[in-house]
Amino acid sequence: MPTVHTVRGPIDTAELGRTLMHEHVFVLSTEHQQNYGTGDWWDEEERVADAVSKLNELKGLGIDTIVDPTVWGLGRYLPRVQRVAAQTELNIIVATGLYTYDEIPFQYAHRGPGTLIETPTDPMVDDFTRDVRDGIADTGVHAAFLKCAVEAKGLTPGVERTLRAVAATHRETGAPITVHTSAAAQTGRLAVQVLREEGADLTKVVIGHAGDSNDLDHLKELADAGCILGMDRFGLDLYNPTSARVDTIVALAEQGYADRMVLSQDASCYIDWFPGEARTAMTQAMPNWNFTHVPQDVLPMLRERGASEGHLDQMLVQVPRRYFE
Ligand SMILES: [Zn+2]
Repeated sequence: MPTVHTVRGPIDTAELGRTLMHEHVFVLSTEHQQNYGTGDWWDEEERVADAVSKLNELKGLGIDTIVDPTVWGLGRYLPRVQRVAAQTELNIIVATGLYTYDEIPFQYAHRGPGTLIETPTDPMVDDFTRDVRDGIADTGVHAAFLKCAVEAKGLTPGVERTLRAVAATHRETGAPITVHTSAAAQTGRLAVQVLREEGADLTKVVIGHAGDSNDLDHLKELADAGCILGMDRFGLDLYNPTSARVDTIVALAEQGYADRMVLSQDASCYIDWFPGEARTAMTQAMPNWNFTHVPQDVLPMLRERGASEGHLDQMLVQVPRRYFE
């Protein structure tokens, strides 16, 4: 039986169940939190308890697994996620990789082939591979997929090196890939171009945030390359409102693409990008950006507009399962 690593350990891929393919437990600016959070805006116990309650609510609504692409650049810290995972039946799958829209951290910038400190292999590949094979730090938790980003700035030297390092780790370990892309700038195309050059299996690649676009020709081009479309920002109405996202998915499903789409919300139990009043403003501007939107609102709307149970099963269960096998 093929297995996949979750925060609580390996499970049979058949046990993944209904899976949201892009959700975050915590997104934190780690240095800011360590220096300015304690005793101020961050309460560890309160935040862990809040995450447990949000994820339990999601499980109660019929979702069995979330796939969390929080990597370096978004404040990945596994011991905290382990505390949450121990208190919920929902499966949490975690990633390795690097989240940057431009440059890479100095620790990598000056190490590697062709840099100041010449090394035979790219230390990013070594680190990502260790996270997948041996586990992250000393937590015993294995990363089950790889994450990177190609934003509107396109293939800057740092972004391209990261993408190639992710592809090399994928070749080495077989771990699948999720790329954060800008749908407006159609950077999914750039990701496909480099990953194809690197010999990646494109059927194991999620083009994250593809669902911000309603351009069917563009989406079909990515799916025809073999990629999985991340229809994964339900609730982020400023990028694309729910109604339009649903229509795009139904149109693609009717044309046979339900086997190349996954659903999600890109929500976080807590994200420190929007503190205090900014958080209130975000919630007012985008009231649907939360953990319950897909099961409570989106799935009924998809059914109502013509998606079949078979389509929903593909997007929620079969495609996620295949991605991790
Ligand atoms: Zn995200």
